[in-house]
Amino acid sequence: MQIKNIDAMSGFATRAIHGGNETDKETGAIRRPITMANSYELPYDPSDINWSSTGGNLYTRNGGANQVYLQQKLALLHGTEDCVVLATGVAALSGVFFAFLKSGDHAVVLDTTYIAAYRLMHELLPEKYGVKTTLVDASDAKKVRMAIKPDTKLIHIETPANPTIRVCDIREIAKLAHEHGALLSVDNTFASPYNQLPCDYGADLTVESLTKYINGHGDALGGAVLGAKPLIDKIRAEAMVNLGGAISPFNAWLIMRGVVTLPLRMRQHNKNAQKIAEFLESQPQVKFVAYPGLESFKGHNIAKKQMKNGYGGVMAFALNADHDAHNRFVSHLRVITNAVSLGHDESLIVFLGENDERQYLYPEEFHGGFFRFSVGLEDAEDIIADIKQALAKL
Ligand SMILES: *Cc1c(COP(=O)(O)O)cnc(C)c1O
Repeated sequence: MQIKNIDAMSGFATRAIHGGNETDKETGAIRRPITMANSYELPYDPSDINWSSTGGNLYTRNGGANQVYLQQKLALLHGTEDCVVLATGVAALSGVFFAFLKSGDHAVVLDTTYIAAYRLMHELLPEKYGVKTTLVDASDAKKVRMAIKPDTKLIHIETPANPTIRVCDIREIAKLAHEHGALLSVDNTFASPYNQLPCDYGADLTVESLTKYINGHGDALGGAVLGAKPLIDKIRAEAMVNLGGAISPFNAWLIMRGVVTLPLRMRQHNKNAQKIAEFLESQPQVKFVAYPGLESFKGHNIAKKQMKNGYGGVMAFALNADHDAHNRFVSHLRVITNAVSLGHDESLIVFLGENDERQYLYPEEFHGGFFRFSVGLEDAEDIIADIKQALAKL
């Protein structure tokens, strides 16, 4: 059997293709098969097995074959010691919060994160388990410093953030966390490992919703946490085995296939989004555009330091128009799809109206309602033409 030589020194695209893959020993197939079995053969005397263990193949909630292949590929892409893959991005987030916070602990959290992170940190963990949290606009690292307390155990940020596109300085905040003995976790979903590697800048844990860019095809849910083995083992034991957030082998296999083209796709997302953000900014009907690649954007200089290959495909923008005109604009679109999620092959847009409960946390220009727009892989000219004809109908 051929021996491949793929390691951390290989290029990103080579790692995306070959990482975690090997020839199947039984059939000689050059792709890993899907192993849907949820249980594995036991040894002659199983009596000394720890049924909560995560080492060898035992039961798929303790770790199955396809999960392990995907973990190998993702750890290789992030350059981290270990990775755990879970059922969804939110399972990955709750896995981090559950593993590293207990009653009485304090956490500092970016104020405008993915809604489930907000719900967990602002409501569920404080109300049910007595965790204390402070929400801050972490795009200003000074505000993080001011929010840290003696019992702060975790700082959690997202950069760029969903849905405000806020950008936080990972290096600066990692330094603050470590000065105070806290861990830093960074939700890297908007950037993907092609554009940004938080653990390279000092983050202890990187969270990815695999549902978005990493799978990239809008047909599977998944999540991952990456970092040093002792931290990941704790999440694996708690969130996967005992909270039950295991990913299905089929989804792990689909995502494994999706990642292969991540670098190609991200190059196109980066290019398309930059072009479209610049186009939108030039339109008199557009009130504002928030995109890290625009020089006019508040977080541009920090993004430039830490996003190595581009600024991703997601932006926020609004029209100089009322609530209903935003809905009418979407109803006129003929290429861009009216749906949530992001990082798919197709362009997706969602209108977040001015009644959003977190409005008070958003930057001023977001207050009348805004679009979160995930620029897809279609031809940029077609996306721009679609926006132009919809604007003309208003
Ligand atoms: C979508 C998303 C999540 C949640 O991922 P799921 O796979 O839908 O659970 C977490 N963080 C960010 C930034 C996201 O965009």
